[in-house]
Amino acid sequence: MLGCGDSSQAPAPTPSPPARAQPSRALDNLSDLPPAARRAFESHPEDFRPLASPGPNDWLSVHPEEPQSVGDFWLAGPNRPGADGRGTLYIQPLGVVPATDSLRAFASDYFALPVVVLPTLALSELEVRRRHNAGREQWLAPEMLGQLEQRLPADAYAMIGLTMVDLYPGEDFNFVFGYASTRNRTGVFSLARYAGEPRKANERAFKILAHETGHMFGMAHCTHYACIMNGVNHAEELDRSPLSLCPVCLRKLHRQTNFDPAARYESLLSRYREADLHDAATFAQQRLSRIEE
Ligand SMILES: [Zn+2]
Ligand SMILES: [Zn+2]
Repeated sequence: MLGCGDSSQAPAPTPSPPARAQPSRALDNLSDLPPAARRAFESHPEDFRPLASPGPNDWLSVHPEEPQSVGDFWLAGPNRPGADGRGTLYIQPLGVVPATDSLRAFASDYFALPVVVLPTLALSELEVRRRHNAGREQWLAPEMLGQLEQRLPADAYAMIGLTMVDLYPGEDFNFVFGYASTRNRTGVFSLARYAGEPRKANERAFKILAHETGHMFGMAHCTHYACIMNGVNHAEELDRSPLSLCPVCLRKLHRQTNFDPAARYESLLSRYREADLHDAATFAQQRLSRIEE
C-alpha cells in the first residue's frame, strides 16, 4: 500500500541518505524492440532531470526508499492488464466530483487502456472511519480501498476512487493526496487540496491520477529521475514533479501494455494542449521528435 502526502505529524525521523538509483542499470534489455521504440526509453539530459537531493520535508528524507528496476518490477509479478478478462480501468466518483470527462480521457491516453467512469457512489454508502484534523473532516484511505474492492467490476484491471473529501492513511500522517495498492487493484485520490487556479488544479489532478494509477500497475516510487512516480510529501513537491514518466517507469508501463510510444505521446500532446499544460506539451513534443529522429 502506498500513500503520498504529508507525514509531518510523525516524530522527526533520523535523516538517512536515500538510496541513489543507477538509471542505466534500472532498464531491462531493449534489444528486441524496433529502433524507434527503443529510442523512447533512451534518456536524454535535456528531457530527463536526475532526482534532486531531497530537502528536509521532502518525501525521500522522511521515507527513504529502495530503487525498483524494471527487472525488480517484473519479478514482483504485477497484475497484468487483460489477464482473466480484466482490461478496463474504472474511475469511481465518491460523492459529487468535477471534471470526470477530462480525467477519463487523460487516463485513457496515459495508460493506453479503456477507461470508464462509473455512476457516482454516494459518500453515505461508504462504511469508512473518519477523523477531524486541523479543522477538516478526513476519511481513512485504506478503508476506502476496502469499500472499492467489494464493488470491483469483473472486468476491472483496476478501479480508482475520486473524491472531494480529504484523506489520511493512518494516525502518523496529516493527510494524503492519494493512496493505492500495487496488488489489490484499488486506489483513491482526493481533489480536496487543489483549490485555486483551474489550470493548476487540473494539472495536480492529472498528476495524482497518473501517480496512483501507476501504483496499481505495480510501480513503486521512482528514485531514478524526476518523475511522476516520485513520492511526494507536500504540494510544493507535487508541483515540482513532472507529469511524465521517466524512461525506467515508462518501460515498466510498456512491459504491461505494449503501447506504441509515438502514438501515446501524440495523443497526450493534444490532451495537454487542450488543457493548456505548456510544460507537459513541450515535453511530449520533444520526446516525439527524439523517437522520430
Ligand atoms: Zn505514491
Ligand atoms: Zn520514474
